[in-house]
Amino acid sequence: MITFQRVAKAVGKHLTRTILMARKALGARAHRACPACGQTVVGFFRYGENAEWGCPGCGASPRERLMNHLIATNVLSVPSAGAILHMAPNEASLVRRFSAAADYVPADLNPDRYSVPAMRRVDLMALAEMDRYDLFYASHVMEHVPDDHHVLRNIHSALKAGGEAWLIVPLWDKPTEDGSFDIPPRERERRFGQWDHVRQYGPDFADRIRAAGFELEEIDASGIDADVRHLFGLDDRLFRARKPGGTA
Ligand SMILES: [Zn+2]
Repeated sequence: MITFQRVAKAVGKHLTRTILMARKALGARAHRACPACGQTVVGFFRYGENAEWGCPGCGASPRERLMNHLIATNVLSVPSAGAILHMAPNEASLVRRFSAAADYVPADLNPDRYSVPAMRRVDLMALAEMDRYDLFYASHVMEHVPDDHHVLRNIHSALKAGGEAWLIVPLWDKPTEDGSFDIPPRERERRFGQWDHVRQYGPDFADRIRAAGFELEEIDASGIDADVRHLFGLDDRLFRARKPGGTA
């Protein structure tokens, strides 16, 4: 579905990206850096409300940069000897990092939409694997699933004891508002920000994760040193959920 709002956002994104590349070509000082692609950049391009959204080199979003920063600084460790289920793998830098694992499974409900090799079709509502994965990663996925309580329990079952789920969702300050696919797309776009979202999460997403049996750590970009945060243009919040047990 294309609406005026989305077209305007896309045009703005393209325009600021072009300006940033032109500034770099003209010799503007690159005093920012992208932890997703490793390039120094003159700034990040706008997307919608966010004036510092994308890396002009690789396109990485603030949340993709946050994940790369947390991995590069060993706050998070990728289980390279283990199994990783990577949902909706459209962040190239994370595909690179995760695909080095012994058992890497890139997946989506619509695998044809991705160019990542060996994509598998996985419906999280029907995910029935048990004690299989060391890491589950899903960024901007949970707001699309019909029943997130059910999906969180499925993820919990699919993880090994000690395994982790790294979850990122669009957040607002208010409590979570749930919808359903019975609501017309236009109405969902108005209420949840995008036509294929069925809810808008608030900080109480944390309670839902705990209710599914996880231990939870919230890593918000606002907790990172201000200079580092500025340098890399970091933003967003990671919900780091751990299935209890294991040796980790
Ligand atoms: Zn980049």
